[in-house]
Amino acid sequence: MTQPTLNLTHDPKARSWLASANGSDFPIQNLPYGRFRPKVSAQAWRCGVAVGDRVLDIQHLAQHSSWLQAPGVDTALATRAAQAAAQDLRDLMRLGADAWHALRVALFLALRSDAPAAVQHEVTAAMHALSDVELGTAVQVGEYTDFYTSYYHARNVGIAVGRGSDVAPNFFWMPIAYHGRASSLGVSPTYRRPMGQALAPGQTQPTYGPCQRLDYELEMAIYVGQDNAQGQPVSMAQAESHIFGMGLLNDWSARDIQFWEMAPLGPFQGKNFATSLSPWIVTMEALAPFRLPFTRDAAHPQPLAYLDGEALRNHGGIDVNLSVSLQTAQMRTQGLEAQEISRTNFKHQHWCVSQMVVQHTVGGCNLSAGDVLGTGTISGPTPEEAGAIIELAQAGQKPITLVTGEKRAFLSDGDAVVLRGACERAGAVRIGFGECRGEVLPSVGA
Ligand code: MN
Repeated sequence: MTQPTLNLTHDPKARSWLASANGSDFPIQNLPYGRFRPKVSAQAWRCGVAVGDRVLDIQHLAQHSSWLQAPGVDTALATRAAQAAAQDLRDLMRLGADAWHALRVALFLALRSDAPAAVQHEVTAAMHALSDVELGTAVQVGEYTDFYTSYYHARNVGIAVGRGSDVAPNFFWMPIAYHGRASSLGVSPTYRRPMGQALAPGQTQPTYGPCQRLDYELEMAIYVGQDNAQGQPVSMAQAESHIFGMGLLNDWSARDIQFWEMAPLGPFQGKNFATSLSPWIVTMEALAPFRLPFTRDAAHPQPLAYLDGEALRNHGGIDVNLSVSLQTAQMRTQGLEAQEISRTNFKHQHWCVSQMVVQHTVGGCNLSAGDVLGTGTISGPTPEEAGAIIELAQAGQKPITLVTGEKRAFLSDGDAVVLRGACERAGAVRIGFGECRGEVLPSVGA
């Protein structure tokens, strides 16, 4: 047994009456949550669920009921869940996993090919074309913490900046993190290159100016779905029930600013100017068919007992294919798509999602529904699987060459970074995370 319980919503044969759902990032086996509003409007953000090339307006659906009556649906709980989601996604999160499941079953059956015509009609009336809406940050994020859980990232950056391949000893014993900044975290199409202070190589005095070494970090976002009270740690047995879902996260990093400031207290201006999220939260239930056993290489210490457990050993890992693409201003001018520059998988992380939740709360820290935990940069074992350009271009020593002939050691103004993710496995329907996209604008001081 390598998977948590699968149910009817994971049926690989199930198809939707909505043709665009089948074979897309958002089939009915996915059903990710986000927030949307009609394009070029100042309307309030509304909770939506992505299906194919549509978004389902949950507020609209919550006011109707025939779609909630199908056999197999816990109508009372699903109704409560839909009304909570329509109010605020955090209200749905706080209802817990049974409510998340009830609403998922109701949506799945309402969208499945055998849904009654009246239900299809009701659901169609609640749909908007994704091309007609603006997508916001999926949930109001209270707090943001960024972990550091890739051994390969830690090793590669050490080598690139001349510190050698040794990874700090504490890395092997616990998932390490710093407390980030939620105010600059979210979905935005553009970001200003930050200004800041940095110490150029060979210099003794720092200079102030636009960041010269702007980087991205390929990460996943973990959305906390349940509160824990201060002083009440979450155990490994409980950890997964506290997580609502996951998305993509780009932890934009000003490497020159970061490396000058970060000893002894950690990153500050080098990170706090911007963090991008993908607009959709893929639920843990949707990820169930793609779980992997946790294993730890015998060369590294096994986790201490408080970071270990049966569920972890059975299915603590997640198989998510991830990629980074880059589109320069010149590519856009020439009508070229973003070019893929690396590809990796979340399964390579040294620490799992449940271990991050446990480590965060073990001292008594309280997490709340809507908090985001970044997984840390996701890099795989080979150089091509690097999740940051500082690794790919070896800290500027080996710039990468793009299809246009342009070279990049770090990001240039006009560059758009696109993160993508998808779970793919024989015997399961592929589910996608959509895109996390952001473009670099010149700094205000340039
Ligand atoms: Mn990071």
